Amino acid sequence: MAVQQNKVSKSRRNNRRAHDSLVAANPNECSNCGELKRPHHVCPSCGHYDDREIVAMADEIDLDEDAA
Ligand SMILES: [Zn+2]
Repeated sequence: MAVQQNKVSKSRRNNRRAHDSLVAANPNECSNCGELKRPHHVCPSCGHYDDREIVAMADEIDLDEDAA
């Protein structure tokens, strides 16, 4: 097991972690349905990319169908 040679102080550790914060995503508006979507990804709500339908979406998923 590797053992560190010197103790890293709280200050040095925290200074290193100062650049570790996560950055919020930058969503785009879908040109087909207007929902927010990730850039360069297929729209999760309508399945369109570059004004073409890439993924066929089911009309409606009825969750109560199995329970009844
Ligand atoms: Zn869309």
